[in-house]
Amino acid sequence: MKQHVEINDLDHLTIGGIDVTYLAEKYGTPLFVYDVEQIRANAKAFVNGFKELNIPAQVAYASKAFSSIAMLQVAKQEGLSLDVVSQGELYTAIQADFPMDKVHMHGNNKSVAELEMAIEHNIGCIVIDNFHEIQLLEELLQKHDRSIHALLRVTPGIEAHTHDYILTGNEDSKFGFDLANGQAEEAFKQIKRNSRIQLKGLHCHIGSQIFETDGFVMAIRRLFETLANWHERYGYQADVLNLGGGFGIRYTKEDEPLALESYVEVLVKEITEQAHYYKLNSPEIWIEPGRAIVGNTAITLYTVGSKKEIPNVRNYIAIDGGMTDNIRPALYQAKYDAILANKAAREKTYQTAVAGKCCESGDMLLWDLLLPEVEPGDILAVFSTGAYGYSMSSHYNRFPKAAVVFVENGHDKLVMRRESYQDLIRNDLSYE
Ligand SMILES: *Cc1c(COP(=O)(O)O)cnc(C)c1O
Repeated sequence: MKQHVEINDLDHLTIGGIDVTYLAEKYGTPLFVYDVEQIRANAKAFVNGFKELNIPAQVAYASKAFSSIAMLQVAKQEGLSLDVVSQGELYTAIQADFPMDKVHMHGNNKSVAELEMAIEHNIGCIVIDNFHEIQLLEELLQKHDRSIHALLRVTPGIEAHTHDYILTGNEDSKFGFDLANGQAEEAFKQIKRNSRIQLKGLHCHIGSQIFETDGFVMAIRRLFETLANWHERYGYQADVLNLGGGFGIRYTKEDEPLALESYVEVLVKEITEQAHYYKLNSPEIWIEPGRAIVGNTAITLYTVGSKKEIPNVRNYIAIDGGMTDNIRPALYQAKYDAILANKAAREKTYQTAVAGKCCESGDMLLWDLLLPEVEPGDILAVFSTGAYGYSMSSHYNRFPKAAVVFVENGHDKLVMRRESYQDLIRNDLSYE
């Protein structure tokens, strides 16, 4: 982590070579700052991992992690494909001039409008999730006289977590068709009857923030058992296997992620072996990293304000943001690391929690952090906030959304403006 951040001779934190106190001053806080060099390096680790092994692949950036026109332009420049799960995400991709043949659409309840937009724009692939969707898709393709490529999303009964995986058999998940109870096969048969849907292969996504590879290996074996069966009974060969995302990143010292290339190596090795074993064609390999592309590439800058010290209990410092720009700690106890950016080299002697300023007791960013002596006006930098931060942000308490800045080659560029109060009330109508 933090290859992209350093401490300069003023004892200030820098990102991409730029003093973050300068950025906080120039753009205000809360502020997301992305190091574009690091985004490119993460993308290249996956893309080149496949290239070096000479394996046809698509690395689809899961844009739900952080979607903006500038971000999708960088993804396009790096040759990534793109996952979208809504009309809003697809609209952003269109506005970023993203090649539509490299866009894949997900979702467990795709609406008619979403499917029609996908069909109209001729996107590369729809990942079919449920029986209702098969029926809708058939009707809409008929109506518009079009055809489309699709993957079938299956739940292989493997749930991967940070350091281990669970064999669940029948998976209790709202996503996809179950492999174990025959639903996937029923869906397969329905889709194969329709000439407008070209079934390119299977998709599964086994979890998130995964630090091991066994779960992926298990999932690949389950998918190949199915493919071998469908080959024998229906003569089917998959062109594509999509293993989803979930590759883990470092948020705190306790996290020990694998090198991104090593996931690629394991997937390629296992898929090649399985295809060979069952005498099936080697499919193209698709993956869908979100967090691993952007998570470790951004920091969030906040200005410290008030303080509350409860003797023998806890110290609290409060910052000028919180669950509105980072809901992950409140939502699922996510852990982060942070420092005072303007006192980056000072000795850390003050133990404190970091609270947001929303009217919720659960609006906390960190429960336990060691900092130098803290004063109002200090700049707190929280690390690894590039994924599921801005994209999950809200208007709770009517806080305008933060600004986003990209830095690269020693330059900083505003890529998402801070919202104004005018922006906040733009959809409000009068009742007078
Ligand atoms: C969320 C999601 C991803 C991305 O997950 P990360 O943990 O951010 O890599 C990829 N594919 C699917 C289907 C997802 O739901």
